[in-house]
Amino acid sequence: MQTVSQSFYFSLKDYFKKKYGKRVQKITVALPFTCPNIDGTKAVGGCIYCSEGTRPGHLSPQIPLGIQISEGIERAKRKYGEDILFTIYFQSYTNTYGDVNYLKRIYDVALEVENVVGINVGTRPDCVPEEVLDLLEEYAEKGLEVWVEYGLQSANFETLKYINRAHGVSDFVDAVLRTARRKLKICVHIIIGLPGEDEEDIIETAKLISALPVHGVKIHPIHVIRGTRLADLYEKGMFEPLELDDYVRLAVDVMEILRPDIVIHRLTGEVEEEKLISPWYCLSSHKNKVIDRIKEEFLKRGSRQGCRQAFNR
Ligand code: SF4
Repeated sequence: MQTVSQSFYFSLKDYFKKKYGKRVQKITVALPFTCPNIDGTKAVGGCIYCSEGTRPGHLSPQIPLGIQISEGIERAKRKYGEDILFTIYFQSYTNTYGDVNYLKRIYDVALEVENVVGINVGTRPDCVPEEVLDLLEEYAEKGLEVWVEYGLQSANFETLKYINRAHGVSDFVDAVLRTARRKLKICVHIIIGLPGEDEEDIIETAKLISALPVHGVKIHPIHVIRGTRLADLYEKGMFEPLELDDYVRLAVDVMEILRPDIVIHRLTGEVEEEKLISPWYCLSSHKNKVIDRIKEEFLKRGSRQGCRQAFNR
């Protein structure tokens, strides 16, 4: 009998297990970065759903990076045992938005830690000059695992304008093509349920990603965080996030379109209770429930990632 634990999609856990033969745990850190979409270089105010550069509440850029990493590693070892490896995830704000010498210093700190096999660098597609890609490629050439994580969110330019991304789809395509010339891995972040979007928009976003040399995708449902402009829209009744059933259906639609070699890094939001307004299922404590529902949907459809690939290859 089939169970929901089957591999319906190519998870990050499976990817790491295949490559390293063991668990590789992501350790998330916060550095004192900002974002060109906040500081006025590209725009002010940031994306309408952004709160503190999407920094998890337990992280503080005031804590030295080395300590954040060692504390994260200790937490992971307590949970998963000693026999694991690590990648360091530079997550909040725009982690390539700085002087290249500073970037080298912080990436070096992360990559010099024992059992760290790589870094994940979260950034915007309009914030990766060649000198930054050169730097990142130097690490990849030493055999380290370097993922550049681009926020795209939607392939609909009207949506990007509405949510104040302050970059276009063309910036994204340009960044992906420049990154793909190097030994770097590319992960794309997309959001399902953005204001004004319907199923066609979401499918088009999945098709664009599948057509490009992308190695991984993070998918999450739109969620409303306190203090954001999206929260204002929500309070005024001008925006409603997706119900769980709709999110599950659309997330599976997206994965059916994505090429089967694309690694699924994430499938839901993980927000702390004190920050989240809606929807309820984006609380960190509901992560496994959402993932189980997605697996059940695959099982019900008899489908899997890539079964509706958009292009003949
Ligand atoms: S690009 Fe990222 S950090 Fe910048 S405003 Fe948007 S969500 Fe926030």
